[in-house]
Amino acid sequence: MIKQNPPLALTDSLIMLGTNEYPIYLVKGGAEGAIFEGGVGALGPVLERQLAELEIAPDYVKQIFVTHAHPDHVMAVPAMKKMFPDATVCASKPAAQVMHFDKAIKFFCQADGMITMALQKVGSVGPDDKPEPLEEMKIQVDTYHADGDLVVIGDVEYDVLFTPGHSDCSLSFHNPSDGTLIISDATGYFVPDNFWWPNYFSHYGEYVDSIQRLASLNAELLCLSHNAVISGAEAVADYFKGALEATEAYHARIIADVQAGKSVREIAGQLGQEVYEHTQLMPLEFFQKNASVLVKQSMDYEEIAPAQ
Ligand SMILES: [Zn+2]
Repeated sequence: MIKQNPPLALTDSLIMLGTNEYPIYLVKGGAEGAIFEGGVGALGPVLERQLAELEIAPDYVKQIFVTHAHPDHVMAVPAMKKMFPDATVCASKPAAQVMHFDKAIKFFCQADGMITMALQKVGSVGPDDKPEPLEEMKIQVDTYHADGDLVVIGDVEYDVLFTPGHSDCSLSFHNPSDGTLIISDATGYFVPDNFWWPNYFSHYGEYVDSIQRLASLNAELLCLSHNAVISGAEAVADYFKGALEATEAYHARIIADVQAGKSVREIAGQLGQEVYEHTQLMPLEFFQKNASVLVKQSMDYEEIAPAQ
């Protein structure tokens, strides 16, 4: 079953917040809580309203977990830090390196501005929901996490999994006692009910391994960072099966196109067009540019040198 339209209570200890495009998760561990996902800048005011409605006090949130350092997963962190002054920001060490790098954050601010306009245009956020300008070109990470760590949020615990392939800094979080699994973009960009845009931006093989590892956990509630939560053991298993099949088919198709003599630009142009048909949130060129990264990753994986 697909769950959407935050704010939405998913379990006794988990609430979906943010918007459908960019969900954020609040884990309630009794006396304290934590936020998973760093979101986009426009979510700052949205989150503030949602938490006020839920009567969550600002000092309740003690940790903010960043899943990976892509612009649409970190830019609400500065607003969250203001909202929750006691909270520590947690991420993988490679994610922190990106978040502490001024040139990366400068680029992220530009992307975030584009996303704000897109969300306002479709009405997912209000005309005044926008990020405040950053005081410095840096998003401070306080605590590093790596594969095998256990994070404790009051009386709730999550295992940390390193799930690379989408990025080389991606973390997922698994609560084996209630079957909740928070995976961010590790399995791609999913548009319900049945479209996956595989997103192996850093490594095809690692991405496939991450999907298989996450699938093997037999989770019952799968929290994605775009468009949906998948609920029910069978639906989650079907989701992973679909994500893996879509990924392998995408890679095979790219390699077949390369071997047929098509250029990276030509292949990426077509692939980007197909994503754009499923979501117009970002401009066509955005999807085509990202698709060209996928074509190059597929070629790298098969050790095919780019044409001179
Ligand atoms: Zn991402």
